[in-house]
Amino acid sequence: MNWLSNFIRPKIRSIVGQKDVPENLWQKCPACEGMLFHRDLAENMNVCSHCGHHLKISVTERLNLMFDNGEYKRIDVPAAPLDPLKFRDKKKYADRLKDAQTKTGEKDAIIVASGTIGGNATVVAAFNFEFMGGSMGAAVGEGLVKAAEVAIHNNAALIAIPASGGARMQEGMISLIQLPRTVIAVQMVKDAGLPYIVLLTDPTTGGVSASFAMLGDIQMAEPGCMIGFAGKRVIEETIREQLPAGFQTAEYCRDHGVVDLVVPRAELHETLSRILGLLMRRIEADPNGGSKKGKGGNGNGKDTIAAKILSGGLSNASAAVNQLQPANEDEVKATKKAKAGQRAASA
Ligand SMILES: [Zn+2]
Repeated sequence: MNWLSNFIRPKIRSIVGQKDVPENLWQKCPACEGMLFHRDLAENMNVCSHCGHHLKISVTERLNLMFDNGEYKRIDVPAAPLDPLKFRDKKKYADRLKDAQTKTGEKDAIIVASGTIGGNATVVAAFNFEFMGGSMGAAVGEGLVKAAEVAIHNNAALIAIPASGGARMQEGMISLIQLPRTVIAVQMVKDAGLPYIVLLTDPTTGGVSASFAMLGDIQMAEPGCMIGFAGKRVIEETIREQLPAGFQTAEYCRDHGVVDLVVPRAELHETLSRILGLLMRRIEADPNGGSKKGKGGNGNGKDTIAAKILSGGLSNASAAVNQLQPANEDEVKATKKAKAGQRAASA
């Protein structure tokens, strides 16, 4: 037997080649521990077929499923100063950067792309969590500013997709400056009267949620993703209280007014197309500037709701979006009446 297993088997293996038998054909779902076949998982957009848990998805895969026909153009992000503080902990920051660049094939933790979603011009700035935990340094700030500029130039909507542990501590103060910088970037888009939508993905924490990630005209989130500033354990230790179950999940945030919509991956393209269609149509109908409050434009009932979302009634945004589908004049009038009634009653 020794002769068979020690000599013949390796010989056969070397001839056949091990590449034909990849070992990780199966993956365990982190939520339900169900076994998932890699091909099924890819076909199902990395969503568990047993429990619906949304596993992580690569940035390029996400862009493919967001843009029309998966077609988009990458936009170059201007280079940021490398390792400005000559920082080193256990390892030099410069080396960490190089490792991350080799591992991901990207320059930094953000990818900017432009294309159309439901026929609407859109610029997407998406974080790559694989790159140093999606942490936000100068290069990421640069990416968001670039995305905002391109959106304004193209008269396009801006969608930010954070997946980040927060600021990049190796860049110290320079990393923190990206917080106000990104806030100004999205404000430029809003001042131009263009929609700014945020899709929160797992995880959105720290400096990112303390800046641009919480400023969307519409805040969307992936099911089950973790959204917060500090982690649950840190908060519990600080306030010496136990936090409720499901704390800091997308669904918890929606129920408590932080998030407008929790959108399953399979419905993402369609939902974005619908929302952008409504918001952008108004901008096209009013070329003198979307920042003016819409007056109902060409008498289209949907227009007034879109204008309402853009011009401030943000807390009602998700309710308004849900009403949008088969809107006609009469329905809009009826909802308005009901809303006015509610307001009068609560006053
Ligand atoms: Zn599962």
